[in-house]
Amino acid sequence: MTDDVDNDHRLYVLLPDSWTAHAKQNSTKEYCYRKSEGEEHFHLLMKGEIYLMHQGEKYCLNCALQQEAVTRNRMHWQHS
Ligand SMILES: [Zn+2]
Repeated sequence: MTDDVDNDHRLYVLLPDSWTAHAKQNSTKEYCYRKSEGEEHFHLLMKGEIYLMHQGEKYCLNCALQQEAVTRNRMHWQHS
């Protein structure tokens, strides 16, 4: 069997002591703390969306991936 990264949707938190994963419980308007470069708006977090929390700030998964708080590389421990 080959390592099919494209079909692997698992994500790994690089610093699980300080970053925690949550599923948004309600529909109250909350935004991702970070906006992507070149973007004018903050990312609205939807009910049920999985987001990360770090020092009281919420991050959508896209931003968490961009700033390498999470990774798709399940072997990252071996490379760090
Ligand atoms: Zn975001």
